[in-house]
Amino acid sequence: MVSRVIPVNPFDLVLFGATGDLAQRKILPGLYHRFEVGQMPEDACIIGTARSDMDSDAFRDQIRASMKEFAPQFKKDVLDRFLKRVSYVSVDVMGDKGWSELAKSLRPDVVRAFYLSVGPNLFSNIAQRLDENGLATPDSRIVVEKPFGHDLASAKSLNEGLRACFKEHQIYRIDHYLGKETVQNLMALRFANSLFEPLWNSNHIDHVQITVAETVGVEGRGAYYDQSGAMRDMIQNHLVQLLCMTAMEPPSKFAPNSVRDEKVKVIEALEPVEPKDIARGQYRAEHGDDGYVDHVGNPSSRTESFIALKVHLGNWRWAGVPFYLRTGKRLRARESEIAVYFRDPPHTIFPNVGPLRGNVLVIRLQPDEGITLRTTIKDPGPGGFRLSDVALDMSFADALGADTRAPDAYERLVMDVIRGDQTLFMRGDEAEAAWAWVDPIIQGWEERGDRPARYDQGSSGPEEALMLLHRDGRRWRQIGG
Ligand code: NAD
Repeated sequence: MVSRVIPVNPFDLVLFGATGDLAQRKILPGLYHRFEVGQMPEDACIIGTARSDMDSDAFRDQIRASMKEFAPQFKKDVLDRFLKRVSYVSVDVMGDKGWSELAKSLRPDVVRAFYLSVGPNLFSNIAQRLDENGLATPDSRIVVEKPFGHDLASAKSLNEGLRACFKEHQIYRIDHYLGKETVQNLMALRFANSLFEPLWNSNHIDHVQITVAETVGVEGRGAYYDQSGAMRDMIQNHLVQLLCMTAMEPPSKFAPNSVRDEKVKVIEALEPVEPKDIARGQYRAEHGDDGYVDHVGNPSSRTESFIALKVHLGNWRWAGVPFYLRTGKRLRARESEIAVYFRDPPHTIFPNVGPLRGNVLVIRLQPDEGITLRTTIKDPGPGGFRLSDVALDMSFADALGADTRAPDAYERLVMDVIRGDQTLFMRGDEAEAAWAWVDPIIQGWEERGDRPARYDQGSSGPEEALMLLHRDGRRWRQIGG
């Protein structure tokens, strides 16, 4: 199967923070790939900006070096053509330097987008400067990276800062999990097939597990992470978004506000979480490897590098169905998935096979994006009637052909910005609703003075997380299993 590429309109994309890690590792290589396949028009312009003093040639050299490191399969002649579309302006977003030069480099009659690949402390300031300098035209778009705030109050203040200069339909809050092929396929699976939706409720679904496991620790981001933790860094955005896609009602149409209205309703239905339904952890030092507290340089840190929660949605569809969310660092494998456990068959007609197990639908986000349905079949061959589990397995890499490179989430999202499609971006009220649910949970453990439990590096998290499901007579799917 070959994916169709529909070119976007000509655009000027101003990339703030263009010398930073995210821009060099993801955004610029992503734009190159869209150029290589012909989606980005030849007359598109990318204007990188950052504080560093350098000229456009030096910036292009930096991109060449990054491509060698992060996208080494690039084609040299295509990269040369791509880089002709790239220039650089040094802008200090806290001062006056560079703004008039930036203004001169923009064209009046093409799509205009500002991508803020910088810390959130700079969002409002940049929005204001864009406005003051007359760059924020009514059709221009502004893209902001995570984290979108630290709590409800800061998210509100970011929203106010952005909305003072841009209308909501111009603001694109990135959650790159929503750009993943499988997450969108979850919508196709649910709403373009008649098989699953009739079963997609508490009558047929026993529980749902959402796991985002990382093998990396917090090295390099320690200072930021220790102020944040897994709840703020992962649950409030990525896991809540995956939960929304799994649990939302069918929108009336596949349009930005229809989809986002349904997602907000899911977040608003999230019930408060009791302390007994939360397991927090910190990876410990072992075998000569530093632990979490060493990595963040804070021996008395109470911040969690792992969290598991049992969550309920107070609505008709999901009443009584637990959603177990789990994410952490330095775990056994890098793996993200949504596993939907259907109820066990009510009765078995087969003698001597014991109780039957329910089907499990697993939507894999990484690695190897794909969908698996665990089913029970008869063991082949004559003799007794034995049953075993098999997986109906679909890997996108296989389905698309082994030679086809699956586009990175950032590629899709940046093209959506140019197209003006906000479906896969968080709306302001969505971000605030997620914080409104998260804030009291964090306040609760801060007031109680909770300390995260320790867990071994390379494990599946602390014992307390296993108990969260054992108590309910259930088991987590094995990470890296
Ligand atoms: P970084 O520190 O590597 O880069 C920051 C960039 O901002 C640099 O180009 C720097 O020159 C520029 N900058 C900082 N202060 C400036 C100023 N006063 N004027 C002009 N430019 C200034 O950061 P990063 O890792 O690239 O992250 C950027 C944003 O993306 C952050 O909000 C981060 O949380 C978010 N993010 C990063 C990643 C990642 O993998 N790196 C993933 C998700 C989200």
